[in-house]
Amino acid sequence: MRFLITGGAGFIGAALANNLVSHGHSVRVLDDLSAGDAGRLDPAVNFTRGDVEDKPKVWRLLNKIDCVYHLAARVSVPESVLYPREYNKTNVSGTVALMEALRDAGIKRVVLASSGAVYGEQRVGAVYEGLLPHPASPYAASKLAAESYVRTIGELWNIETVSLRIFNCYGPGQSLPPTHPPVIPQFMRQILEDGSLVIYGSGAQTRDYIYVDDVVEALVTAATADGINREVINIGTGVSTTINQLISCLEGVTRKKAKVVVSPSISGGVSNLVANTNKAQELLDFKPKITLDKGLALLKERDPHFVS
Ligand code: NAD
Repeated sequence: MRFLITGGAGFIGAALANNLVSHGHSVRVLDDLSAGDAGRLDPAVNFTRGDVEDKPKVWRLLNKIDCVYHLAARVSVPESVLYPREYNKTNVSGTVALMEALRDAGIKRVVLASSGAVYGEQRVGAVYEGLLPHPASPYAASKLAAESYVRTIGELWNIETVSLRIFNCYGPGQSLPPTHPPVIPQFMRQILEDGSLVIYGSGAQTRDYIYVDDVVEALVTAATADGINREVINIGTGVSTTINQLISCLEGVTRKKAKVVVSPSISGGVSNLVANTNKAQELLDFKPKITLDKGLALLKERDPHFVS
């Protein structure tokens, strides 16, 4: 098949692109490199630097494409609290611009990388797709708006759409930006370098951490699965892990004792977030394979930041 991946030089996008070309597919990537790195891509991937709102470029890249993966986005919850307009521009306007281009090019299917963050604080244990989302940050609000635009424009123009609500994805290749780094690589680096791990509040907050190869498998399946048109589907493990448990796992994998510093909670985060995975099992026959212990060991072994 022929794919276009927006944001394909990013953490998840590059893993997806490399997986697809390794299975003989033809893959084009569009990425403005605001956070991505084209050096992550297999040489067989056809890379173009550009913005999802650059219509002529997007039109050209859509020529003869069977399925589009839309991953281009700004992705930090705390950063979005500071810069909501920028998050709206990239994650919402960027998605609308892409959907217009897909309409004009007559594309058959688009898979949106949405986020478990759209649920916000909920009163149930594992969150399921029928819940009313309650975004707690501009990032989460922008992903929910993107889902809505993808579904609506898809319905109007007969484009098949599916939104995968990915939970906390981690693995080799995730960026470690100087500000607002994602928790797992940040903690891994700190523990390996004998630095301090800052936790916000009690460390009892829970998340559903899913290894990148599992997310890639779900994305690959979503390109061709039947019966998923207009659906939103959680992509998580269903396993709830507290920050304190995550630190214990990291101590096990690195065989080092963490130095923990406690700081007051920050805004935009939610206390508990774990996926109900029934729908993913039912519609995509998807079951993640990598446990957190195994995934952290793979991260330490394979990520260039940590290989000694
Ligand atoms: P990432 O920052 O590594 O990847 C995003 C990519 O989009 C980057 O390479 C960036 O350069 C590119 N980009 C940003 N703005 C662009 C624009 N205007 N035009 C073209 N390219 C642009 O992040 P990631 O973790 O790989 O996330 C990929 C997608 O998955 C995002 O849509 C994110 O919201 C979603 N997601 C990620 C997670 C996670 O835990 N990593 C969880 C839920 C959802």
